[in-house]
Amino acid sequence: MPVKRTDKTAMPERHADTRAHDFEEVNEGYCLSHAQFEAERCLRCQDPVCIEGCPVRIPIDEFIHKIAARDLAGAAQILREANPLSAICGRVCPQEVQCELKCHMGNRFRPVAIGHLERFVSDWAREQPITVQGEFTTPWRKEKVAIVGSGPSGLVCAGELARLGHPVTVYEALHAPGGVLRYGIPEFRLPNDVLDSEIDSLRSLGVVFENNIIIGRTLTLDQLFDEMGYSAVYVGTGAGLPKFLKIPGESLNGVYSANEFLTRINLMHAASFPRADTPIHVGKRVAVIGSGNTAMDCVRSALRMGIEEGLVVYRRSENEMTARIEEYHHAIEEGVKYHWLTNPIEILGNEDGWVTGLKCVKMELGEPDDSGRARPIPIEGSEFVIPLDTVVLSIGTSPNPLLTRTNKDIKTTEWGGLVVDHTTAETSRRHVYAGGDAVTGAATVILAAGAGKRAAHGIHEDLCGSPCGANSECGCA
Ligand code: FAD
Ligand code: SF4
Repeated sequence: MPVKRTDKTAMPERHADTRAHDFEEVNEGYCLSHAQFEAERCLRCQDPVCIEGCPVRIPIDEFIHKIAARDLAGAAQILREANPLSAICGRVCPQEVQCELKCHMGNRFRPVAIGHLERFVSDWAREQPITVQGEFTTPWRKEKVAIVGSGPSGLVCAGELARLGHPVTVYEALHAPGGVLRYGIPEFRLPNDVLDSEIDSLRSLGVVFENNIIIGRTLTLDQLFDEMGYSAVYVGTGAGLPKFLKIPGESLNGVYSANEFLTRINLMHAASFPRADTPIHVGKRVAVIGSGNTAMDCVRSALRMGIEEGLVVYRRSENEMTARIEEYHHAIEEGVKYHWLTNPIEILGNEDGWVTGLKCVKMELGEPDDSGRARPIPIEGSEFVIPLDTVVLSIGTSPNPLLTRTNKDIKTTEWGGLVVDHTTAETSRRHVYAGGDAVTGAATVILAAGAGKRAAHGIHEDLCGSPCGANSECGCA
């Protein structure tokens, strides 16, 4: 099959000079001619190995061929059936290490831009009448299911169970649903209207959202089962508990965990203070410690809050960085500076208790450690100070312990992850299921979504007594 184009069709994006000062989306999305051009690069492989690289096994070749044939409704239908969060995943999935890594085109040239095409089709579908979104129904089964947490894992589990006929209520601790998709990932990567539209589709399926309710505190699991009549509970509470460096100065004013920093800006709209209630102190120079997507989101958000200099401090080198390459490049274009091989050892402050700087030591890389990455080793006598107003710690998170602390019958691992049966997703407590970051630790949107989908089928099978489609009386066939 002749190769028509060797390069990926570039994603149109806003210029760094403009976009670094507002929260509007950076990527502008393909137009129809971009999408068709890109779709025609697909080789139509006999063995579309790209599908193996997708955690929810989207029939990638099929939806791309529909785009090439100008059948966008057909492409949208394929995507919606395989991945209810495709507009989100088309924007934030690390395709370069998943489906696109496997793409045969990538053996000689740049792989097909599967993520950009997924985003294009989903955005197109959002603007169409509801017919391409699928048939909307009201629940017809009696077994109610409660979902704890409204991140991607809870949302997908809720949607799948609603499609299988169950009355579903999602309980969310915060005042708006979406989990990290709302409070963590900034609008310049994932606009709220994209998320709202996915949530509205779930509402149309009959899913009910109850915000400001902490399960384990406002309501207990026992109450859900015994007083409110739920037959099963899915726990998708994520991994929102920040880790700290345990170095002197961490309690100074001007030190934030990444979660607090992003929540103030994204969920509480600190950029609009005093029109919004929640302020944030950024000052002129901000350093973010860490190198993942979260660190990039923090430093790029800080730029948009009007700082003069945004820095990333990481104890390993650029090669060990864990952020998506696209986000890293965008951050560089926007003016972010990087201190590689630099380890913070103390946060310095003034007599009023505010941050003034970060004391660091230079590092060199040794043999690989348990994580398989080169072990950073301090270079003696290389200490130096970076003058700063704000320090954001983005060095990882672990599962929120609230629900498990109040339910001792739910087993957890040493690091706090919920233990589940890998086939059914059931925890050690009967009829309580779990998935997403609460089980795996901090991972990705699509892995959380995939876990929610698998668990929904496990829950349905358990409640219905037979696999989906196997019981003609069930109505899920
Ligand atoms: P979450 O999204 O964490 O949602 C859990 C929800 O449960 C939260 O809303 C929380 O308030 C709620 N909750 C917790 N406890 C309770 C309780 N007791 N009662 C009621 N509600 C409760 N992944 C990617 O694939 N690509 C990216 O680009 C990317 N960028 C990221 C950027 C940031 C800043 C962060 C923090 C993560 C990023 N990730 C990214 C990771 C991804 O967002 C997570 O893996 C994913 O959101 C996990 O989904 P989840 O449903 O398991 O949990
Ligand atoms: Fe198309 Fe690449 Fe998938 Fe082959 S592997 S079907 S070229 S997207």
